[in-house]
Amino acid sequence: MRKKAIIDIDNTLWQFCNALYEELRKINKNFPTPDSWTHWDLWEGYCTEDDFYNAVNIVHLNQHSDNYLPYPEAKDFLLSLRENGYHITIASHRLPDYRKQTEKWLEKHGLVYDELHLSFQKTQLFDTSTDVVVDDSPKVLEKAVENGIMALGLLFPWNREYVDNGFMFFDNLNEILSHILDK
Ligand SMILES: [Mg+2]
Repeated sequence: MRKKAIIDIDNTLWQFCNALYEELRKINKNFPTPDSWTHWDLWEGYCTEDDFYNAVNIVHLNQHSDNYLPYPEAKDFLLSLRENGYHITIASHRLPDYRKQTEKWLEKHGLVYDELHLSFQKTQLFDTSTDVVVDDSPKVLEKAVENGIMALGLLFPWNREYVDNGFMFFDNLNEILSHILDK
């Protein structure tokens, strides 16, 4: 049976936080830069929660824009997983309305996958048949660990304090790939 990997998009296959920051700066030019985003309620004092989620949606609505590039190693990361026998589900925390834009972006950049899941309940995908989860969200990774799944992600200010919670963070996708394939 093929091994199963569930791979996030934002801040896993590309630097979503920088794109979001550009949108947030249009609302309030004093918005703090992503290197100080340590808490999920980072908008407090700078815009409303609605403004914040509107900015998130604007980025996702424009996902296929030429300005939004995946990490340079993202394409080979996914290809290597596939070559090593993994069934790849790309799972993103975003409105399913943006499926077309998301598919276009993945296709344009040669980011291969078997299934695309867009919802706000991606952890429902985690079961005993899942082998690996790659995500930057500590909440998502915690759920993976609870299900006995190997859980890894890229290191960011918002997950740095969770490093000892049973999952591992790395500086780039090549390091994550090596760790997965070494197992
Ligand atoms: Mg993410």
